[in-house]
Amino acid sequence: MVIVMPKPDIRFHVWVGAFQYSIQFVADLKKRYGEADKDKLLIRITKKCAEPIQRSTALHEIIHAYIHAHNHDLKEVTKEEKFVRIAEGLFHILADPRNTEFTQWVIHGTSEG
Ligand SMILES: [Zn+2]
Repeated sequence: MVIVMPKPDIRFHVWVGAFQYSIQFVADLKKRYGEADKDKLLIRITKKCAEPIQRSTALHEIIHAYIHAHNHDLKEVTKEEKFVRIAEGLFHILADPRNTEFTQWVIHGTSEG
């Protein structure tokens, strides 16, 4: 008997600061749309929801990864300064030429619909 392990469905890699995360699409995440595993540098997105929700979820998880990486410099600042830094961080990630494929997908998606 041959046990066939499903191949991990990793479609994108995205640099968040010093670390490269893999974006993996999975069948089910039990009521969650996505999750960021900061130890494995892995973001999982459920295939159960429509692609625009997957894209929005990917952005959400990237923000988690960014905050995790910059937690120490975000702790002591005002709420407004947190927004400034997170927005700048997100802008950097999306504008990073190493993340072009990911950014294209998040902003425009893969299908015309
Ligand atoms: Zn969250």
